[in-house]
Amino acid sequence: MARIQLTALTPEEAENRPVIHTGVSMMGLQGDDCVCGHCGRVMMTNFDIGPIRPDMVYICGNCDGASAAPPRQ
Ligand SMILES: [Zn+2]
Repeated sequence: MARIQLTALTPEEAENRPVIHTGVSMMGLQGDDCVCGHCGRVMMTNFDIGPIRPDMVYICGNCDGASAAPPRQ
């Protein structure tokens, strides 16, 4: 399990993209911890963002900031 730092987006960058509101915390079965690009809070635990479309925007339940998955290696 790794810790993934999400990339912070501006509201303009997040416009017209699909959105997931992670709420207090989203928990998956297996995967990584994903950290908000704005406030550093863990937004998703044991969550595999691999199958999620790369333009998905994740809204933090703590700071309402929009983040995206980091560019794939
Ligand atoms: Zn945040």
